[in-house]
Amino acid sequence: MRGEQHGPAQQPRVAYPDGPVPLPVGDRALEARRLAPALAEDGLRGGLLSWDGQLEDDARLVVAVARTAAAHGARILTRTRVTRVGDGEVDAVDERTGAALTVRARHVILATGVWAGELTGAVALRPSRGSHVLVRAERLGLPRAAVNLPVPGEKGRWVFALPRADGLVAIGLTDVAVDAPTTDPQPDASEEAELLEQASAALDLRLEPADVAGRYAGLRPLLASAAGRSERTADLSRRHAVLADPDTGALTVVGGKLTTYRKMAQDAVDRITTRPCRTARLPLVGAAPPAALRSVAAPPALVRRYGTEAPAVVALADRRPDLLEPVAPGVPYCGAELLWATRHELVLEPEDLADRRTRAGLVQEWREAVLEAAAPHRSAA
Ligand SMILES: Cc1cc2nc3c(=O)[nH]c(=O)nc-3n(C[C@H](O)[C@H](O)[C@H](O)COP(=O)(O)OP(=O)(O)OC[C@H]3O[C@@H](n4cnc5c(N)ncnc54)[C@H](O)[C@@H]3O)c2cc1C
Repeated sequence: MRGEQHGPAQQPRVAYPDGPVPLPVGDRALEARRLAPALAEDGLRGGLLSWDGQLEDDARLVVAVARTAAAHGARILTRTRVTRVGDGEVDAVDERTGAALTVRARHVILATGVWAGELTGAVALRPSRGSHVLVRAERLGLPRAAVNLPVPGEKGRWVFALPRADGLVAIGLTDVAVDAPTTDPQPDASEEAELLEQASAALDLRLEPADVAGRYAGLRPLLASAAGRSERTADLSRRHAVLADPDTGALTVVGGKLTTYRKMAQDAVDRITTRPCRTARLPLVGAAPPAALRSVAAPPALVRRYGTEAPAVVALADRRPDLLEPVAPGVPYCGAELLWATRHELVLEPEDLADRRTRAGLVQEWREAVLEAAAPHRSAA
């Protein structure tokens, strides 16, 4: 039982602070079911706990990285697509207005994920789709730990049921080779059926398509190996690489994991400067040690998402306490968050609020509620 989202198991740590406790087998199974109540009893002998996979909200992480960079002098341009990489310059187009621009720089670093091959010939990728379905936590007895299951008949592949902070459990994930990157990958019906089937095998209930509250997929920017297309994408390395394009001098940083993003950045930036890299000691906006976060005066859900900035989010509701209520019953976002994003996080259209500043877009009803709530906040900004 653990929270890591994919890849082979790390050495698991034991659940008890004083070290391994030799509980009788029956008690170990009971403890496992206490943490994950829907686990099937039949054949269950216990569990092992580890503490990874605890990302609160990936949209908040990306926005915090961009705002931290801006605080250190970066200029952030969203909806701007690079169309050509030259020697010390890139051509780009503002996708909203169609205006063309050229940006000149001493160094160009591309961090374009699965689209890297569109801008440089220095990279060969084998994209693979990873899909998840989302089930309401109540359906699985409000689990407090992730359940990881080896996929029968496959080496090194796992299906997990990972409780999220927003009241959903993510069940994932698949590994399907795709020919070319697309901007909005979606799980297909066979992947959903496979995930429900594999998770149900370890549960004392059967998950049905009607249990699916939402779904999402992403494309892994996996580096092609010398073995070519005969190798399964599940077997390709998740390591990152920094590759130089001999024609333009541009560097591309690609592959890797969300959890290694600072190391990826360091490896890329170290290639263009001899100044010591600062990323290891650079806190993101809103970051603070756990003890300091515990004393931040704001609702815990907002502190988890905004850290020390949570009181500033709350302050937006000074004369409108309703802004601290969910935007609609059961939706885990409040109006103050939408207003905060509109004022401070470069929101250009309501879809940004639903899909890129919050993760409301994961559940259709949540998405609709956020889009409906968005209009007045945009004018309030
Ligand atoms: C299904 C799945 C599950 C994963 N699970 C985990 C996990 O459990 N743990 C973990 O650590 N990692 C995980 N990862 C890996 C992690 O999410 C990726 O490694 C990471 O998102 C890649 O980051 P990136 O910045 O390289 O690329 P991306 O996040 O894809 O960002 C690339 C950006 O470049 C932009 N772009 C592309 N082309 C252009 C252009 N021409 N002009 C301007 N902008 C452009 C795109 O719009 C995008 O914003 C997972 C990935 C997937 C797909």
